[in-house]
Amino acid sequence: MGDTLPSVSSVFEILKADGFEEVAFFHDSPTGLRAIVAIHSTALGPALGGTRFYPYASEDEAVVDVCRLAQGMTYKHAVCGNDQGGGKAVIIGDPARDRSEALLRAYGRFVEGLSGRYITAEDVGTNQADMDLIRRETRHVTGVSESLGGSGDPSPATAWGVLWAMKAVAERLWGGPSLAGRHVCISGVGKVGAALADHLAEEDAKLTVADVNDAAVDSVVERHGAVPVTADAAHTVACDIFSPCALGGVLNAETIPELACEAVVGSANNQLAELADAERLRQRGVVYAPDFVANAGGVINIAEEPHGYDRTRAYRRISSIHDTLLAVFDRADTEGITTAEAADRLAEERIASVSRVRLIRTAR
Ligand code: NAD
Repeated sequence: MGDTLPSVSSVFEILKADGFEEVAFFHDSPTGLRAIVAIHSTALGPALGGTRFYPYASEDEAVVDVCRLAQGMTYKHAVCGNDQGGGKAVIIGDPARDRSEALLRAYGRFVEGLSGRYITAEDVGTNQADMDLIRRETRHVTGVSESLGGSGDPSPATAWGVLWAMKAVAERLWGGPSLAGRHVCISGVGKVGAALADHLAEEDAKLTVADVNDAAVDSVVERHGAVPVTADAAHTVACDIFSPCALGGVLNAETIPELACEAVVGSANNQLAELADAERLRQRGVVYAPDFVANAGGVINIAEEPHGYDRTRAYRRISSIHDTLLAVFDRADTEGITTAEAADRLAEERIASVSRVRLIRTAR
């Protein structure tokens, strides 16, 4: 053993501070696999969350990211009614350079070794074909091809959920779920944003779209007559709903004063740069649909896989994001708190009440 091993005390500090159950480190020399799985909570069920394949600058950065993401999954599953716990994984590396069949299958073997406490799925840097390879080594993987009994790419399901979140916002602001004639500005028309644009066009909404990828914008402009806007100006467009569907941190101390919308409803994870931004939005009178409620369609969809995937059943559940969001708004009103805090409280209450039920003894 060399003398360069880092101290692990900081990892335990992270685990203790936020109540993590487990963080597992996996290494396989021949394939170069370096992976970390974080299980934040299994109070509601096995931890379910995607595998991010990303060239982290340092191992510390990877640990912090996987833990932050895993904790977020606990709240997302809880608030959307899934019987799943929060977990996430990262593979440290550049997917374009380091992805190989052997590496992904080695990763699958390690996931299998967690005996179902963690179930994986796609995330940034991984795709359905990767999940199909992982499936050859473990049953504890979702988002696999429909031909393998899976639900496929979760993005269309996420877009469907964002649409229903927008309908809830429409009900709150304009007295009914219709989005006809409403002006929505989508920032980021990738897999989710483009599918969302298709749904909104069917609803007769008016569309403005932005993306750093011109081809992505052109495609939506051609299909639906959307108005293009530059990526850095998207949040300033005067519209009914601003929909961040690209990166996190888009709502911050600089951008919030520049918003010219009535509501923010999008798929991007971690839209608030900091918690104080939820209060900034409230002060400005902008209705904020908490990201982990609005973008839960994908995880509701993949959580249906272990029960035998049925698209009709899954999409019916996804549309319940509408009711969840209305409950979040009611809670925020009643308690005079931000919608982000209200969503957190609903999630924490469900975890506490449902996990208590599991203490009741049965014959097993
Ligand atoms: P994607 O990579 O397919 O699309 C993202 C798009 O954003 C791309 O077209 C990219 O060019 C564009 N983009 C990048 N930087 C931008 C910028 N500064 N301004 C405007 N556009 C920019 O990703 P996706 O799967 O559509 O996911 C979009 C967001 O939703 C991400 O934050 C993702 O984490 C989140 N999300 C996705 C899912 C899912 O099912 N795919 C589920 C939950 C959350």
